[in-house]
Amino acid sequence: MPSPDLEKFRIAIDAHRAKLADACAAVRDAAGLEELRNRYLSRKRGFVTLLFEDLKKFEAADKPAAGQLLNLLKTEIQEKLAALEESLRTPAAGGPGVDLTLPGERLTWGAAHPLRIFQREIESIFQEMGFGIEDGPEIETDYYNFEALNFPPNHPARDDWDTLYINDNLLLRTHTSPVQIRIMEKHKPPIRIIIPGKVYRRETPDPTHAAMFFQVEGLVVDRNVTFAHLKGTLEYFLKRLFGDKLKTRFRPSFFPFTEPSAEVDIECLACGQKDPACRVCGGTGWKEILGSGMVDPQVFKNVNIDPEQYSGWAFGLGVERTAMFAYGIPDIRYFYENDLRFTRQFHLK
Ligand SMILES: [Zn+2]
Repeated sequence: MPSPDLEKFRIAIDAHRAKLADACAAVRDAAGLEELRNRYLSRKRGFVTLLFEDLKKFEAADKPAAGQLLNLLKTEIQEKLAALEESLRTPAAGGPGVDLTLPGERLTWGAAHPLRIFQREIESIFQEMGFGIEDGPEIETDYYNFEALNFPPNHPARDDWDTLYINDNLLLRTHTSPVQIRIMEKHKPPIRIIIPGKVYRRETPDPTHAAMFFQVEGLVVDRNVTFAHLKGTLEYFLKRLFGDKLKTRFRPSFFPFTEPSAEVDIECLACGQKDPACRVCGGTGWKEILGSGMVDPQVFKNVNIDPEQYSGWAFGLGVERTAMFAYGIPDIRYFYENDLRFTRQFHLK
């Protein structure tokens, strides 16, 4: 049987233990923690210190049991205070003492590459007009890259596409036009799509050439589609991209897969068509921005679309070239050098 003194001591210790949890919950900061630590463990007036003084009053037989009770309480208090201190140091753990008035941690946000931003701008203008977005393989067969697009083997126009061949039949696509063939093979008209994507040419990199760059092509196929639709759509697109007052002109040109074909020029925004020595337009006042034309009937025959019933038009533009003109970027290589001083300039666009 424990002596009455020991029983009283146990009750006193349990009372301290019961108050401990509430006392800890009330602590809001390091000063509160220090105050609590003193209240329990201060060498002069701490509750625990005073209880150790009381040990002296016990009979010899009760001393070990009383000492053990007290040591348990002391350990428990020390552990609770240590846990509390830890939670004050890491507010994210939900501990008390989070100072909501402190400035937040500044995160570094990633952002889209300037070319992506520009490409999305192009995509969204065409999407608003009801165009879908398609893509296709970057490794192509000779058939899809050339033959189906009306370049027979040994056609001189193939020289314009300095091609990176993988073997006799496979190559890195030189334009996104093979996707036009793939889509027309699979879907019957009406077709209204744009095709953004990477293309490859055997080029030595310089300020205006890269061995890999981005194109966006468009294709419309339906009954009664005319050159007027081509002109109206491309003029609207260019005005959305460069401004309402933009002057455009269409010049006759040649592509194997369109007939008739036209290059589209826009007024030189660098000199406003006023500087005979302008380096951007070479003093002509115009800048070639895209190629276009009515889909050649032979291309329709290659994909089993009847050219007597359907007509269509297509266009293609270089994303880098257009972005360089829009933003006044003098060198295409800036896009690929990952220099943050360059890429960061486009984040707020
Ligand atoms: Zn100019």
